[in-house]
Amino acid sequence: MPVYDYDMIVIGSGPAGQKAAIQAAKLDKRVALIERKTVLGGVSVNTGTIPSKTFREAVLDLSGFRERAFYGVSYTVKQNITIEDLLLRTDQVIRHEIDLTRHQLTRNHVELMGATASFEDAHTLRLDFVDGRGQRLVTAEVIVVATGTEATMDPHIPFDGRQIITSDDILRLDRLPRTLAVVGAGVVGCEYASMFAALGVRVTLIDKRPRLLPFVDAEVVDSLAYQLRESRVTLRLGEDVRDIEPVHDEHGDRVRIHLVSGKQVVAEKALYSIGRTGNTGKINLPAAGLTADDRGRLKVNDHYQTVVPNIYAVGDVIGFPSLASTSMEQGRLAACHAFGIEAKAVPELFPYGIYTIPEISMVGKNEEELTIAGVPYEVGKARYREIARGQIIGDSTGLLKVLFRTDTRELLGVHIIGEGSSELVHIGQAVMAYGGKIDYFVNTVFNYPTLAECYKNAAFDGINRMGLSVEHTDTSPAPAVTPKV
Ligand SMILES: Cc1cc2nc3c(=O)[nH]c(=O)nc-3n(C[C@H](O)[C@H](O)[C@H](O)COP(=O)(O)OP(=O)(O)OC[C@H]3O[C@@H](n4cnc5c(N)ncnc54)[C@H](O)[C@@H]3O)c2cc1C
Repeated sequence: MPVYDYDMIVIGSGPAGQKAAIQAAKLDKRVALIERKTVLGGVSVNTGTIPSKTFREAVLDLSGFRERAFYGVSYTVKQNITIEDLLLRTDQVIRHEIDLTRHQLTRNHVELMGATASFEDAHTLRLDFVDGRGQRLVTAEVIVVATGTEATMDPHIPFDGRQIITSDDILRLDRLPRTLAVVGAGVVGCEYASMFAALGVRVTLIDKRPRLLPFVDAEVVDSLAYQLRESRVTLRLGEDVRDIEPVHDEHGDRVRIHLVSGKQVVAEKALYSIGRTGNTGKINLPAAGLTADDRGRLKVNDHYQTVVPNIYAVGDVIGFPSLASTSMEQGRLAACHAFGIEAKAVPELFPYGIYTIPEISMVGKNEEELTIAGVPYEVGKARYREIARGQIIGDSTGLLKVLFRTDTRELLGVHIIGEGSSELVHIGQAVMAYGGKIDYFVNTVFNYPTLAECYKNAAFDGINRMGLSVEHTDTSPAPAVTPKV
């Protein structure tokens, strides 16, 4: 048997790498984790998930956006909000999360190395140490590639990190612009467009596709588009970008975006957000017998093994769904498989949260998918304004939809837009995971007043539409009398 320096080496300290390393360490394996940045946590902690969600919370709090239903559209908690105001909170949370990550890894005896890793062969990595301490070769029985992604850059666009930026530059903005063009209406583009609009920035959102977020329920997307327009966002959909140029004249520094249609969009800054590319270009994949696709992603089997069985790949570097939540689970499952612990794949039924303002969340199938699949279904809807908690928090536009099979009454999907949707969705997720029916919501009791009550209203709505009566199933305690529907 060859003798290796480590049982497992993980490349990358994002959510996927962390969980792979910790799981292997918990199995008493000798584990090293290599990170090329001076800070741990990957995109998730340093430039993506955590910063953007903290930024959003700061925007909502300081702008008083949530309270405007009561106090009027001009209500604000702080006049003249600055980028420093917003970043104060973000910096604190990032620092705490980096600390926590380091603590969790070291507590589990994962050896941390600050270096850029690249393959020498399938069991050997070359480490280029970031602090100039030279190079070293290390070997491992198992190698996990958890190198994540970086913002996709077009070589023709003059990115400068100041006027023409990617989401990685948001935390380094010198000031809040008065106007912003966002190129790419994917999740990240829509999230930042809505955050800046809530601050009063005039935003233009551009995408070559004819609708926002094509994978989201159409009614939910309509509601988002309506609310973005209410926040003075201009949507330029079905429009391709030909060129972006910085302009410096007597009016100051601006950016001019030329659209293929001949239109131009002028803004103080442009956020370019057309997707992400796998970080595989510099890790010398051929030396290990690996190749990536044209977007830098690695192909894996159900156990996250690449075509070279001792090399696993997890997280954003393997593509869809590219979420911190699923990346963590992939890391954990890869480590289990590598050391012979039986583990399943990440469940197909995972929720998706989109932190636009308002927030969107969903689990299971949407109406378009069910229609294409020919599944007989019905929909039940509840609007936040119809329930007490919706009135209390001032969210009059929130909407929760439940989709269920008309023959078996099984819950098939939940789609929500509105305050707290990314938490609320987990109720539907749990019911679906246990094969629950729409009747569960009618037969159960929720805290009052809560947004969870939407489930009950939506269930009644769906059952009424079908002209059905409620079934008392095993999944919930049957009340003494049949509820009136
Ligand atoms: C703006 C934004 C908002 C997001 N919001 C959400 C959200 O709300 N919810 C959610 O679930 N997900 C969100 N995501 C996605 C989430 O951040 C990713 O899914 C997650 O970070 C992927 O984790 P990972 O471990 O695969 O990679 P990463 O977090 O990208 O970490 C990879 C690490 O590998 C290191 N690395 C790369 N190459 C090498 C090398 N050769 N040697 C050593 N180290 C290397 C990198 O420096 C990096 O630290 C968001 C992403 C962005 C960009």
